[in-house]
Amino acid sequence: MATIKKAYQPIFEVLNANLDAQVSDVIEQLTALASAKTGGGGGKATNFHKLEDGTVAGIKCYYHGLWMDPRVVEFGNKTSSPTGLNNMCKDGVNKWTKQDRATKNLQQEILAEVMSGDIAPEDIATVQEEREAAIKAVIPREDGYGFATLEEMLADSEERGLAVA
Ligand SMILES: [Zn+2]
Repeated sequence: MATIKKAYQPIFEVLNANLDAQVSDVIEQLTALASAKTGGGGGKATNFHKLEDGTVAGIKCYYHGLWMDPRVVEFGNKTSSPTGLNNMCKDGVNKWTKQDRATKNLQQEILAEVMSGDIAPEDIATVQEEREAAIKAVIPREDGYGFATLEEMLADSEERGLAVA
């Protein structure tokens, strides 16, 4: 096996631990590893927040793009991630999985509709584009939970009586 340059070793460790994962599952971790560190210290990742005692008190859900407290809404376990939790809330994982499957099935569906005459061949590209956009739209959580900033999320958690420091 090739000798991996030291700077890239953490990236390969993540990749090796996630050989069956999709790129979307590990991209955030890799981005954090590959990003230039800002400020001194541990090069804190910006997609999760831990309290002083190590409790994970915030994750920026990769699907919803919003900060959520895993003590308020459910996140699945994921041992390979730096938080021990998935980077998407459970609701997000469900929606992402369905949308991903729908995107993969789209071509077949459109082809079937062309064969049955429901779609004219010259409209294939337009229909595909429209449906893909509809499928990929982020569907908010039914409970409306999620915050644009970590600060807002922590303020909400504090109001709920959760530890925030
Ligand atoms: Zn989510």
